[in-house]
Amino acid sequence: MENADAIVLRTVDFSETSLILTLFTRQFGKIEALAKGGRRLKSPFESALDILTRIRVSFLHKKNNTLDLLTEAKLIRRFRVVESNLAGLFASYYVVELVDSVTEINDPNPALYDLTVKILARLEQGTLLMRSLIRFEGLLLKTIGQQPSLENCAECGTTINSNFHTENTEQKRVAFGYIDGGALCVRCAKLLRQTEHGKFLTSISTNALHGMKLLTDPLDKTENWKQIKLEQNVQNEIRGIHNHYFSHLLGRRPRLYDWLNFIAQNDKEIIQK
Ligand SMILES: [Zn+2]
Repeated sequence: MENADAIVLRTVDFSETSLILTLFTRQFGKIEALAKGGRRLKSPFESALDILTRIRVSFLHKKNNTLDLLTEAKLIRRFRVVESNLAGLFASYYVVELVDSVTEINDPNPALYDLTVKILARLEQGTLLMRSLIRFEGLLLKTIGQQPSLENCAECGTTINSNFHTENTEQKRVAFGYIDGGALCVRCAKLLRQTEHGKFLTSISTNALHGMKLLTDPLDKTENWKQIKLEQNVQNEIRGIHNHYFSHLLGRRPRLYDWLNFIAQNDKEIIQK
């Protein structure tokens, strides 16, 4: 018997009384488990088996390709769904979808677990939703070793200058490769445009690149990311880059992709004009 902390990523009805759960556990990574009787009102799972709940579980861990067997679940915390924060709810669905998409069965990633717990609590507050998501996405990419290079050319390592308020107009956009994994220097971008990778290049404004750096800074202990001034168009640009980046990484668009607009429109961020 194993014990673990888990976030419920998905539930599928298995029979009239049972459920199959996809759980992201801190100790064992993602698991799929059968909860016999999980659909009954009176079950050993105390109605803790809903998507977006954080639970403490006991289960029989099967090593061969069969489902684990859930024996007990206790609720630690449930995401509070309030009508005024539907955007936060959909942002949370998007978060669990991403976690489900980038993780493999039985491959623990405690850093990503902790990050997920944190973002779900944050989204409950209903404010700064989009920049919270962007930050989560950036840190998620770091935990799986897929973080785009933002300070140096992803090909040759040359420093990319993305200071704000640059006077040099030629410096205001930087090439960005979805496959090459980040910002590119002028020389490498030129070479790549002549290859098959050319069609996976775009350009990013230096303001957006700088914004991405600040929002996704893993060393930001003072939560500076909440305070930084970020123009709406710059945030939209970062959103667009992340959308493409994740679509390339997953090989498809996330299912909740279309809801990102809704989330952005209903985000209670006070924009400074
Ligand atoms: Zn380069």
